[in-house]
Amino acid sequence: MFNSVLIANRGEIALRIQRACRMLGLRTIAIYSEADREAAHVRHADVAVCIGPAPAIRSYLDGAAILLAAAATGAEAVHPGYGFLSENAAFAERVTQAGLTFIGPSAACIRTMGDKVAAKRAMRAAGVPCVPGPDASLPDAPEAIRHIAAEIGYPVILKAAGGGGGRGMRIVEQESGLLDALALTREEARRAFGNPEIYVEKFLGRPRHVEIQILADGHGNALWLGSRDCSLQRRHQKVLEEAPAPGLPEALLVEVGERCTEACRQIGYQGVGTFEFLVEAGAFFFIEMNTRVQVEHPVTEMTAGIDIVAEGIRVARGEPLSITQSEIACRGHAFECRINAEHPDSFAPSPGRITRFDVPGGPGVRVDTHAGAGTVVPPYYDSLVAKLIVHGATRQEALARLTVALSEMRVEGVSTNLPLHRRIVTDPGFMEGGVDIHHLEAILRRGT
Ligand code: ADP
Repeated sequence: MFNSVLIANRGEIALRIQRACRMLGLRTIAIYSEADREAAHVRHADVAVCIGPAPAIRSYLDGAAILLAAAATGAEAVHPGYGFLSENAAFAERVTQAGLTFIGPSAACIRTMGDKVAAKRAMRAAGVPCVPGPDASLPDAPEAIRHIAAEIGYPVILKAAGGGGGRGMRIVEQESGLLDALALTREEARRAFGNPEIYVEKFLGRPRHVEIQILADGHGNALWLGSRDCSLQRRHQKVLEEAPAPGLPEALLVEVGERCTEACRQIGYQGVGTFEFLVEAGAFFFIEMNTRVQVEHPVTEMTAGIDIVAEGIRVARGEPLSITQSEIACRGHAFECRINAEHPDSFAPSPGRITRFDVPGGPGVRVDTHAGAGTVVPPYYDSLVAKLIVHGATRQEALARLTVALSEMRVEGVSTNLPLHRRIVTDPGFMEGGVDIHHLEAILRRGT
């Protein structure tokens, strides 16, 4: 049972985790890089330690420096947040070996799910439906490779077993392009992820991205908190999310949700996690599991009425889940807009000092942010400056609230993607709901 938590992250998620810890009466320890001296998560922490210079590789990704900070401050647990070291099994192991609690699943679970081939194999074994294709990485023999792809049927997608962040994937339309594409993807994967293993699966033409949030404790209990739709993506990066995924039959969601919780029990999963699926023609296909809190968790918090971050900390303290599946009733509808400091047309990052920061308010409106007027957005990290989250009794009400909130929100000093969000909420396809993963790119191609 720990009473102090080192939060190994920065930005809005460091603040989000800090709030959950403080609410639970836990002592909070912030870490920061030289670029984040003035950051909000540093100001509000009980203790804050500078762990290195601005580049992430020398600060937020430096596991040894983080463990030193933990030892120096008497931290008893480490919360990794998302990104950085959150899905690094070796780091989770080092935290545990140092006698601290890692707030998340075991290193073994992180390792299995971090290898997409191993994850697919574990999920198939647990009865979770997966994208057609073998749960093994591709062999070396050209003839065998051709045979595997032909069996799946073109188009296929080559994916790096160790891939993440929307990288390490390549679509192959026909056999003539297969071997060249494989060589390229392998080389990229070797360089980017240090793992040249590639696997192949059916390329789905017009799927939606739907995911299931789960929570599991160390006492064999697991539950699912409904669905999210994250189909609005640009270059495989999520831009706007909602809960629940609109227009999917409840019975189908219940079946998939139960498969996910069963899989959690089978692999001994503990903590918060997300099962990601592609959904096409009413069928679910597992693509990967994220073994950490996700950026988009608030839309589920708003609909399920559960503090997911606090529950994750409670189960790490050894407590059983405070609710059962039958007590979960998802209410209404929620949206989240990721507000990034980026140029609205080129999408290039737009670091700098924020000179004006007006956040919206009113019923059902929540803004998760570390930023305000005067905040400097450094060029070293991701460009997320705020998450605008709204809830309403119906999708229509939530959308109306979102439209008003977006019109009130104003950020100056850096460029943001607020204009893009304002366009999305007036797009007829989005307004109707249930668009596929190519819809946002189609909106962008149409221009203003
Ligand atoms: P990452 O870990 O890099 O995020 P994912 O496996 O989660 O990779 O896939 C990210 C995105 O890539 C999906 O949301 C989807 O847009 C696209 N994608 C992945 N697999 C397929 C597939 N089999 N068919 C079509 N699109 C896919």
